[in-house]
Amino acid sequence: MNQPVLTIVVPCYNEEEVLPDTIHQLELVVNNLITDGVISNQSKILFVDDGCIDKSWSIIYKASLHKDVVRGLKLSRNVGHQNALLAGLFTAKDASDCLISIDADLQDDIEIIQEFINQFKAGYEIVYGVRDKRHTDTRFKRNTAELFYNCMKKLGVDLIYNHADYRLMSKRAVEELQGFQEVNLFLRGIVPLLGFRSTCVYYSRKERKAGETKYPLKKMLSFAADGITSFSVTPIRFVLSVGMLSFIVSFLFGIYFLTLKFFGMTQTGWTSLITSIWLIGGLQLIAIGLVGEYIGKIYKETKRRPKFIVDIDLFNFPFSKKDKT
Ligand code: UDP
Ligand code: MG
Repeated sequence: MNQPVLTIVVPCYNEEEVLPDTIHQLELVVNNLITDGVISNQSKILFVDDGCIDKSWSIIYKASLHKDVVRGLKLSRNVGHQNALLAGLFTAKDASDCLISIDADLQDDIEIIQEFINQFKAGYEIVYGVRDKRHTDTRFKRNTAELFYNCMKKLGVDLIYNHADYRLMSKRAVEELQGFQEVNLFLRGIVPLLGFRSTCVYYSRKERKAGETKYPLKKMLSFAADGITSFSVTPIRFVLSVGMLSFIVSFLFGIYFLTLKFFGMTQTGWTSLITSIWLIGGLQLIAIGLVGEYIGKIYKETKRRPKFIVDIDLFNFPFSKKDKT
């Protein structure tokens, strides 16, 4: 395939501050690649409005009116980054040979898009963008991210270190991705499970130019917890082992104290009693909470609700030439 049709999918949530510049920069890159004959002139950039409550949609809408490579997809409400990304990928896959996902704030280096395409042409179905420097992220974000990757690794989940959601996937890979039906989506964990031939391209991550991160601490923690509990039952096994260990220990202590009582050597023992009640009570609550977390997941999965609902699709139903005038 000499000139593959590329679609760049950009999920956006209240990104009015960065969008004009992002549209401009991505358009430049795509037009240059088309002019250089690297990609087909059917290639597009698809901006997914994930239930924005600012002017993002009007910016996307106007751009898709006037710019040939720009298209828009409006979701009916906010469904979160991962689902918005899926909405874009699934909408665009039939018309594309390969698809790249990238964040709207362009913190990820768009200069390597050409390298993504080169690797795709060389036969790789998935190309991961990997950050080799994270000096622009806060120390806190770097440390928590490192802790998260290490935790996932210990739990046996195959994550690409320092890869977020900046990647190229072939049409075939996206089609196979559609077979993963879970509602609790964690793409970084699922994409490696596809198992196709893959490679990495390295770049350094930039600072967000404008607007605020849409992943404040609370959302980041819940994203991490989702990632862990969607992929691994190790935490629940760990709790089980702690429970069994404490049962064995208390059983042995029980025998010991009974023996002491038998020989009339018991102490008043209030401290040990109260400590163990609190300890066991705490452990039980943790265990119940963790089990609840998994049951909650099962509950959500059984409902099989759609992951997103498309409100306006300007990708498959773009403006006609008549509308533009
Ligand atoms: N995003 C989205 N829906 C959401 C939250 C975020 O589509 O509910 C998009 C957001 O517009 C951006 C990307 O997901 O394009 C990543 O968000 P952000 O850059 O704020 O995350 P960070 O880089 O700080 O981790
Ligand atoms: Mg960002």
